[in-house]
Amino acid sequence: METRFVTCMESEDKTCLKEAGQILKAGGLVAFPTETVYGLGGDALNPSSSKRIYEAKGRPSDNPLIVHICKWEDIYRIVSDAPEHADMLVRAKKLADVFWPGPLTMILPKSEIVPAETTGGLSTVAVRFPSHKTAQALIAEAGGYVAAPSANTSGKPSPTLAKYVAEDMNGRIDMIVDGGEVGIGLESTIVDLTVEPPEILRPGYITREMLAEVLGTVETDITILSDKSGQAPKAPGMKYRHYAPKGELTIVSGNVDGVVTYVNEKLKEAKALGKKTGVIATDETAAFYQADAVKSAGKRSDELTVAKRLYTILREFDDEDVELMYSEAFAEAGIGQAVMNRLLKAAGHHVIEV
Ligand code: AMP
Ligand code: MG
Repeated sequence: METRFVTCMESEDKTCLKEAGQILKAGGLVAFPTETVYGLGGDALNPSSSKRIYEAKGRPSDNPLIVHICKWEDIYRIVSDAPEHADMLVRAKKLADVFWPGPLTMILPKSEIVPAETTGGLSTVAVRFPSHKTAQALIAEAGGYVAAPSANTSGKPSPTLAKYVAEDMNGRIDMIVDGGEVGIGLESTIVDLTVEPPEILRPGYITREMLAEVLGTVETDITILSDKSGQAPKAPGMKYRHYAPKGELTIVSGNVDGVVTYVNEKLKEAKALGKKTGVIATDETAAFYQADAVKSAGKRSDELTVAKRLYTILREFDDEDVELMYSEAFAEAGIGQAVMNRLLKAAGHHVIEV
């Protein structure tokens, strides 16, 4: 299959998306930018489109897809209208009033029309209304319901640029819409509204504190920052090794001096063995490391910058064939929790405390 590559910036006229919409309506696949990461879209209500998404990504079919909509009212067709689920929709509306359009995914009981292929066989559906104008226009052109996991090969870091989508998806999908670099750089926060109290299954830009301000108590799946609970993560996709670079990544946690000393010692040993090394540092610390590739993820004082750079750095290390990587740890509050969650998964939970 030949993959067409078109450019459509967020601010531009959206007629360029007419054809993309036609492709989606006909059961084809189109990758597109959102404010979080690039998504790999298919018609969420067409079971064969969802099957094609799994094939293109090499994604296990028990890992459900997020359904993207482009206006609140459209949620009513895809979630259950049973009276016992009414309270969940009330909560969803409260959250939507504050956080939609935006980087928040809500889990709700599904209606009949959502195929089991889209939800990985679950009776619930994940729904998001993205704020990215190109994404919204594309969803509208496609008929309102676009299933879109991140547009990477399963297991690799999610794409923050269209060139990374092309690396993974060229020849596998019908079209890639290039909208430049994404804004946030990490996937949406997922909150499960089918349980009481609501529970965060994947941390993201919208934090627990922000959700709790609207809903009262909100819990966090304990598997998010630890693999020691013996429990499976509640979002099926979170159990897979994810976001992983090709080389071996270790997180080193502790005070800056201790971390720098430890990492430089390890880098020396690795160099003696002829291994290509890399470090994920911050603007404040990058100058202290002696690796083949030292990359600053951003400012330690502003973890949003780290969220935005993290996946790009992991991809760059792959491009540069770096074999051994060390990363500093980040504070586990606010957006830092999402950064650490992805970093821990990328490192297979390999953390050294110094
Ligand atoms: P991605 O689309 O690649 O960002 O991944 C979607 C994530 O949402 C995966 O971790 C899925 O397991 C999770 N997810 C999607 N639908 C559901 C659902 N109905 N219940 C729980 N988790 C879900
Ligand atoms: Mg993904």
